[in-house]
Amino acid sequence: MITSAKSNAQPQRTILLVDIGQLLTLRSAAKGPRRGASLSELGIIEDAAVLCVGGKIVSVGTTKAALRDPWLKKHRKKVIEIDCGGRVVLPGFVDSHTHPVFAQPRLVDFEKRNSGASYEEIAEAGGGIRSSIDGVRKASKARLTQKVSAALEDFARHGTTTVEAKSGYGLSLEAELKSLEAIRSAAREWPGTVVSTFLGAHVVPPEFRGRSQDYVNLVCNEMIPAVARRKLAQFVDVFCDRGAFSAAETEQIFTAARQRDLAVRGHVGQLSETRLGPLLDYKPASLDHMDHVNDADLANLAESDTVATFVPGANYFLGLASYPNARRFNDAGAAVALATDYNPGSSPTLSMPMAMSLACTHMKMSPAEAIAAATINGAWALRVADRKGSVEAGKDADLAVFDVRDYREIPYWFGANHCALTIVNGAPSVRM
Ligand SMILES: [Zn+2]
Repeated sequence: MITSAKSNAQPQRTILLVDIGQLLTLRSAAKGPRRGASLSELGIIEDAAVLCVGGKIVSVGTTKAALRDPWLKKHRKKVIEIDCGGRVVLPGFVDSHTHPVFAQPRLVDFEKRNSGASYEEIAEAGGGIRSSIDGVRKASKARLTQKVSAALEDFARHGTTTVEAKSGYGLSLEAELKSLEAIRSAAREWPGTVVSTFLGAHVVPPEFRGRSQDYVNLVCNEMIPAVARRKLAQFVDVFCDRGAFSAAETEQIFTAARQRDLAVRGHVGQLSETRLGPLLDYKPASLDHMDHVNDADLANLAESDTVATFVPGANYFLGLASYPNARRFNDAGAAVALATDYNPGSSPTLSMPMAMSLACTHMKMSPAEAIAAATINGAWALRVADRKGSVEAGKDADLAVFDVRDYREIPYWFGANHCALTIVNGAPSVRM
C-alpha cells in the first residue's frame, strides 16, 4: 500500500519558489535507476524557480522566465510565493529503508555495545531486536501511531518527503497487523508519502526459538495472506543473514509474497555473505546493507534493476571499522541508493544528510552521487520514480530547501540540520 495522494484532499494550492541559488533537478536522459556516471548528474539550474499547482510540479526554469510568465502575472494574487534567497533546493529525500514502529529507544544496548559487547552477544543476552518485541506487543495501536507520526514529522524537518516504513518488531500475527495499521494511521495524517513494508521475517521470535521453520510457515501461511487481504503493505521484506533467516527460508517467504502479488525487498549481507543469485530471481526492488557481496553476485546485481541500498548509519552506530565500498558497486554498474535504516537498535537517526555525509566520508561517494542515491535512486528502490525523486514537470511537489549556498554543504555540515523548509505533496511544512 502506498499512502499518499493527499494532495487531492487539499485545495488547489499554487506555490512559486523563486530565487533558488542552485536547483538540483536530478533530471537525466538515463532510463531506469542511475548507474555509473549518470549517478552524479544533478541537472543543476542556477537562479531557478519552480511552480507547483495542486500538489504537482508544473514548471521548472529560471526565476527570470517565471516572473515573465503571462499566466503567473495574471494569477499573481492566488500564488503563494516563496523567496528562497539564493538557497539550495532539491527533491525531497526518499528514505527507502526505515523501521519506525517501536516503543522505546534501546539505551541499555547502546551502553553495553560501547563497552565492548558484540551485536550477537547483545542479542544472546536478550537485547537486540528481541528487546523491542516486548515493547511493541504491549503497546496500544494508538501509542504506536503516535510514535510513527512523531517520526514522520521529524523526517520532514530533515528534508525527507517519502518514507518506506517497515513492521517487524511485533512478530506475531496480531502485533504485526497492529504495527502496519499504526503505519497506515500515521501516514493518513502526514502530508508526505509512506510506502509500507511487512517485515514479519525480521528475527525468529523467542517463542519459536529452535523452530524457525514453524515461524516461517506462520509468516507465509497466515501473516502474508492477512497483510495482503487488508492491503497493509506493498512489500515483503526478509532479514536474510547469519542468525536470522536462511536463503532457503527467504525464498519460501518471497514465493508466498509473490503468490499474493506483493513485491519483495531484503536485508542481506550485513553480517555475512549472502548469495544474491537465487534471490535476484524474485526481482526484489532493493537489497539492503550489502556489506558482504562477492564479485560474481555483484555482476548479476548490475544486470538487474534491483537497487543496492546502503545504510551507513548502521555501520556508524554499531562502531564498525568497515563500510560497503560504494565505488565498487557503482563501477560495476549496479544501481545504489542511500537510506537511514532508522531503528532503535542499530541506526537511531532519521537524517538523510547524515547518511549522505557518512557515504561521502566512509564509502567514498561524491556529494553529487550521495544526493542522487538519496533521492532518485531511493525512488527507484521503492518503485515510485515515476512520481518522486526529481524536480520535473508532472512529478509530485516534494521539495526540500536547504539553508546553504552550495549543494556540497549538505553532506559537509554533518550532524546539523540545515533544512529550512520542506514542501510535501504541495504543502509547505516547515517555515524558514
Ligand atoms: Zn533494516
